[in-house]
Amino acid sequence: MQKYFSRANIYLVGKQVMPEAEVQRFLENEADTWLTDTDNAAQRIPELAGRICYMSFGDKQGRKDNASYLGHIMQVGHGSVLEHAVFSLLLTGVSRSLTHELVRHRAGFAYSQLSQRYVDETEAQFVIPPAVQGDAELEKLLKDHCDATLKVYAELTEKLAEKYATPEGLVDFALREEQLTEGENGKFTFGEAVEGHDKLSIDDWRELVGKNEGVAKYFKKKTIRGRRKSAREAARSVLPNATETKIFVTGNARSWRHFIELRGDIHAEAEIRALACDVARLLKKEAPNLFGDYEIVKLPDGSERTRTTHRKV
Ligand SMILES: Cc1cc2nc3c(=O)[nH]c(=O)nc-3n(C[C@H](O)[C@H](O)[C@H](O)COP(=O)(O)OP(=O)(O)OC[C@H]3O[C@@H](n4cnc5c(N)ncnc54)[C@H](O)[C@@H]3O)c2cc1C
Repeated sequence: MQKYFSRANIYLVGKQVMPEAEVQRFLENEADTWLTDTDNAAQRIPELAGRICYMSFGDKQGRKDNASYLGHIMQVGHGSVLEHAVFSLLLTGVSRSLTHELVRHRAGFAYSQLSQRYVDETEAQFVIPPAVQGDAELEKLLKDHCDATLKVYAELTEKLAEKYATPEGLVDFALREEQLTEGENGKFTFGEAVEGHDKLSIDDWRELVGKNEGVAKYFKKKTIRGRRKSAREAARSVLPNATETKIFVTGNARSWRHFIELRGDIHAEAEIRALACDVARLLKKEAPNLFGDYEIVKLPDGSERTRTTHRKV
């Protein structure tokens, strides 16, 4: 398994389709003809949406090609039309510090990110910040620190797991997860008798778990997921911002444009700026009429930035 990343992996895992039969049904029922020159759904959908505003079909249709239609939309800042085109990107090889900045983009985005509570990070991977990449001394400093934190993480999870596996810990977890539930007269039950034991007070359960190996084993089995999750959620506090994460991001074309503008800007942090440039490259190829105005400019230090004449449409 790769341990260190220097660039994000971007997977375009979701985009739209436009069922032609439904478009034709609408045109026949209500709108006459529509001339366009793209079969790219991401570009056709916002064009159709925009044309609805003025019902510019048939002899009311002015522009006859998708590029000039969407270009005009951007020029006049009618950006809401672009919200109908949606792209889902799965990002891996990005750091937690990058995603902390990414999720600040609220409008038009949906996120699903790897959980450090549910997923074990004993073998976490890391992202080397662009400024550190290629400098042997700095890379060693960073990698040594990452290795050291993984050791502390492993030790913390192990020690917490031990702590949670004491008779008190096991009964507490069973209670917290509502597996051990209160019945009548302050007696608790597991819903089924545990090796014939049922309806005991909390103190009696603790005592029983302490002296009966079979009952302790049963409690351990029933609480294993909760105990692991609790150990990880505490231990993750030592993991650095450089820890690699995976995030599934769905955004509409207007939101992606805003992201590319803000994070591809020279003032943006280097890792997210590189991502913004890669996202711009991918989306320019995928939907040139929506993203083709972005230039990706090489900077003297070898990194890149984005630039456009249509800001915040
Ligand atoms: C170079 C750089 C440095 C930064 N530094 C910091 C920092 O030091 N500390 C920090 O906390 N953040 C910082 N940020 C994050 C920044 O403040 C924004 O949270 C982030 O860029 C998302 O931008 P946004 O709000 O425009 O995007 P979105 O949340 O996607 O919003 C898009 C647009 O929708 C509109 N909008 C969204 N929500 C509302 C609303 N509630 N009310 C009215 N209009 C709304 C606005 O026009 C907004 O521009 C930085 C960002 C950049 C690019």
